[in-house]
Amino acid sequence: MIPSLKQRPVAKRPDPVRLSGRVLFLVDDPALVARQLAGEDLPWPSGARLRDNISTDEITPAYICYYYDERLGEFPYLGLRAGNEFPIGRGAVKAGGFACSVAGKRRGKGSSREQSPYAEMCAGIQLVIAESIERIYGENCQNLGVLTSTDFSLIEKVRRNEPIPLSVFTQGEGGITRGIIEYGGLFQYNVARLQGKAQVPAVTTAERPMTLAEKILARHWVRDLSRDQVGVPAVRRGDEGFVRTDIRFSHEYVTPMAAIFWEQYVGKNEKIVDPGSVFFFRDHLTYLELAMTDERKAQGLLDVAIELKEKQEAFAQAQGVKLYGELPRRMLGRMGVPSGSEAICHSKILEAHALPGHLIIGSDSHTPHAGAIGSVAFGVGTTAIFNSWLTKDVRIKVPPSVLVRINGRKPAGITAKDFMLQVLRHPYVKDGHAIGKLVEYAGEAVEALSVDERATMTNMAAEVGAFTGIIRPDEKVVEYLARERGLDPAVTRPLLEGLWSDPDAEWETVIEFDAAELEPMVALPGDPGNGIFISELGGPVKIDIAYAGSCTAGKKSDMDMYAAVFQDALEQGKRVPAGVQCYVQCGSQEVKRYCEEMGYLEVFEKVGAVFIEPSCGACINAGPGVSYDRDTVTISAINRNFPGRSGPGQLYLASPYTTAASAVAGYITAWDPGLVPATGR
Ligand code: SF4
Repeated sequence: MIPSLKQRPVAKRPDPVRLSGRVLFLVDDPALVARQLAGEDLPWPSGARLRDNISTDEITPAYICYYYDERLGEFPYLGLRAGNEFPIGRGAVKAGGFACSVAGKRRGKGSSREQSPYAEMCAGIQLVIAESIERIYGENCQNLGVLTSTDFSLIEKVRRNEPIPLSVFTQGEGGITRGIIEYGGLFQYNVARLQGKAQVPAVTTAERPMTLAEKILARHWVRDLSRDQVGVPAVRRGDEGFVRTDIRFSHEYVTPMAAIFWEQYVGKNEKIVDPGSVFFFRDHLTYLELAMTDERKAQGLLDVAIELKEKQEAFAQAQGVKLYGELPRRMLGRMGVPSGSEAICHSKILEAHALPGHLIIGSDSHTPHAGAIGSVAFGVGTTAIFNSWLTKDVRIKVPPSVLVRINGRKPAGITAKDFMLQVLRHPYVKDGHAIGKLVEYAGEAVEALSVDERATMTNMAAEVGAFTGIIRPDEKVVEYLARERGLDPAVTRPLLEGLWSDPDAEWETVIEFDAAELEPMVALPGDPGNGIFISELGGPVKIDIAYAGSCTAGKKSDMDMYAAVFQDALEQGKRVPAGVQCYVQCGSQEVKRYCEEMGYLEVFEKVGAVFIEPSCGACINAGPGVSYDRDTVTISAINRNFPGRSGPGQLYLASPYTTAASAVAGYITAWDPGLVPATGR
């Protein structure tokens, strides 16, 4: 508990609220937008068509997200398309004196980036009105203290500076959201919780059969933050409250903005609560300078991106938080070039920190990676990370549970990635029904997987759209913890107690298939849900790049698979052919050491693959292995292939075996041990 927050005056917003400022209509007509920016106030209704589907990418395009502080106020709506134009330039909204911004349907769709509402807030926007507002964007607004409404009658009230009852904004909301709106943001609400002034409605669910994830949530449920009381007998879907975390982590895309919030709201000299359970990572942008275009560099964006690293380092040092950072730069002549990172966040959390039964939050959608060991791990946004530094907890509404059961024995050469491509093309998942759910993977075929391979499945819960993915921890987990971390089984085995889904637990849906019926799979460009059997490809697909890395596919077991295929190829006198670039990138220095011990680095070199030190790199379009034009074809072991993810080219997803075999063949092919296919070019 931070003593100064116990004493900090905290009060609800004035009720009614008064907003003063102009109203900006985000309309389809670029001339009308320009006239507003030049000072003209549009009548409403004006006959102009409001822009629908304004995504967070339009509010703050990705390259703007290298900014992490009030400078974001210069940029809201920079990517907003009106007609065929982008009529809003840098600084225009702030200079216009707008307090309210109005749009059409589905405002704030797309990525959950909090830079978008923060940019609007820093530009002076206090109220967002739209015909409909996307859930996460709306929550982010509320957490920051920006009001949201679908009531267009408020437009005139803002213009006349009339009082507006707070109930207009809280109507129909649950107890926690109401509190957050009334206190003017999540931070203020949490201070009120810490002081015992704001009470979270109690969960009263009686004991009942629960799923594994529900049990872990119940164990971590915060009954009273001000008295440090944690744990309830049971939870069920729909229960709302806060859960205590065991681990909180963030990377350089998120830590700096959260640090700014910390310094502004809590105080520069205040310390994060329990810093030993907080971790920072420099992983996403380590190699950015090798991938960023000269045009973006000329705009100064590389310098801004480097600030993210520097801010995170300074904050980690000031706070005494462990930072898994960047390795010292390598000198190439007189030039320093990046040498990679200590680890990708998810790789390190699983390798070194997560334990069965843990509750883990991370600033990244692939945080469920650690579910491989039997923890509930999920991704959260910047404000949630920042608030967790002072409360150690995070808001939650218990989602429904879904069971994915994979029966039977998988054929040789089938991997966890193939399982996931099969799960992702299941209609229930493909049609979005698994979004936000607690997904548990079970069945004989899952139990037979190593912990590393299980992590491929829990990691890709993000692609499923799930809240988290989890696998019941078993003796393999105990062995993993002994082998990888030297933990005594006598200490870790008791952690497994009670960590299973009860026989009568409530599943919203059970998805089931037989591993024996699977063939090696590939996801066609555009979406991880585009999976087909390679045998259905209908002819050879030539490749230009093979990328074998990322958190999903940079583990020790993945390196085993790449090395097995490449060794096989070498024994047949084959190498990666000219015209194919092949990269192997590991997830952590620990994995690199393993590759050294196993002699894999030599195998990679001999076969013609370039080994790269750990970093997210090409997986996030920020490192070697990205494509630079639409015609480039890449086969990749990463987890997602949305358009533009790894450059403008065509990105196919596949297993580590398939990625390596295709690198050698020059076209997409499964691995047939002892028979690496002939080179295709
Ligand atoms: S490797 Fe890719 S998926 Fe994994 S954390 Fe980095 S960017 Fe995200």
